[in-house]
Amino acid sequence: MLSFAFSVLFVIFFMLTLGLRYWLASRHVRHVMRHRDEVPAEFADKIPLAAHRKAADYTVAKTRFGLIHAIWSGLVLIGFTLLGGLQALSTALLHVTGPGMAHQIGLIVAYGVIAGLLDLPFTYWFQFVLEQRFGFNKMTLKLWLADTVKGTLLSAVIGLPLLWVVLALMERTGALWWVYAWLVFSGFQLLMMVLYPTVIAPMFNKFTPLSDDSLKSRIEGLMARVGFASKGLFVMDGSKRSSHGNAYFSGFGANKRIVFFDTLLERLAPPEIEAVLAHELGHFKLKHIVKRIVVAFALSLVFLAVLGWLKNQVWFYTGLGVLPLLGQNNDAMALLLFMLVLPVFTFPFAPLTSITSRKHEFEADAFAASHSDARDLVSALVKMYEDNASTLTPDPLHSAFYDSHPPASIRIRHLHQAGALSGKGTAGMEPA
Ligand SMILES: [Zn+2]
Repeated sequence: MLSFAFSVLFVIFFMLTLGLRYWLASRHVRHVMRHRDEVPAEFADKIPLAAHRKAADYTVAKTRFGLIHAIWSGLVLIGFTLLGGLQALSTALLHVTGPGMAHQIGLIVAYGVIAGLLDLPFTYWFQFVLEQRFGFNKMTLKLWLADTVKGTLLSAVIGLPLLWVVLALMERTGALWWVYAWLVFSGFQLLMMVLYPTVIAPMFNKFTPLSDDSLKSRIEGLMARVGFASKGLFVMDGSKRSSHGNAYFSGFGANKRIVFFDTLLERLAPPEIEAVLAHELGHFKLKHIVKRIVVAFALSLVFLAVLGWLKNQVWFYTGLGVLPLLGQNNDAMALLLFMLVLPVFTFPFAPLTSITSRKHEFEADAFAASHSDARDLVSALVKMYEDNASTLTPDPLHSAFYDSHPPASIRIRHLHQAGALSGKGTAGMEPA
């Protein structure tokens, strides 16, 4: 009875999520197409009609691709759960490994391999058909394959020991296992923040210290003004994969580094680069990054507590198409089911994250306007919108639901106001 009720609840949320995605995507496509033939007035003198049309076509292609991908992922999810895919996989593995840790880890690895292969055509299509058509792809097939192999090996080397630790904690530490698992998981996340910029990212890209002296002293001036210490300024060869440009921070504590994509440095003038960086420094100085980490850790504690309860409920398994093994350990299955179905139940809450994120963007823009020049930020933003073919006319509801950044026109209007207030005119940053 409970099992059936849970199946029904899952199907309701599943349909709600897909329906919501479909509705938002259709609205977005219609809205963008309706505004395809006219550059919005405030951008009329800055962005040519051809670029505006390209942005519309790119947005529509990406939105349609995203929807088809979501439908495919939904079918795969139903196949693994209600249609018995995980059950069959577990039974087949049990014959090979017998019960125990090998079966547990085997189940998650087998799922990972199958799900990864089922997703591969989409990754390929996105890079070599969609991005290619709009001139953004700079990857060769060889590089793509090397990335895929490297990424898979890396997640095995890092992920398998972590998985083993979590499963051992689930099995041996009693009712409060999820507290220990959370401590291990959070420690691991912090470790990755140190390892990512120094060890992992350099496996995929080349990082060279920024060599342009005048740009360097300009940036160092800005960092001194806002009181920011960093281990270094680096340029990343982003152009070997994509012509999209960006800038970001990584690391924390004494390990902080600022990374510019070579594609960004090529397109923006030094004052614009400074304004973009001032925006990023704003995120740091206003503690947005720390806040984001604290929220993520708190949420993962809540989710683990929920899993701690769910893993002892038979209906949680049977409601999702799995018969739990009697008198045996079902931890890996519980973990897998939880990770698979959680997004179905959390998707309707996505706008909450977007709202916070957009609030932070406005704050970082205001920070940039007061520590750099609002006009430079605006002209950098306009270039980045154009170069990345980001639409200037998103559907307002689609944008409110998904977008981590405010729509271009609203963002730039705020910057003009901030610029007028500080008497420095308007400045801005990253669209992606
Ligand atoms: Zn930002």
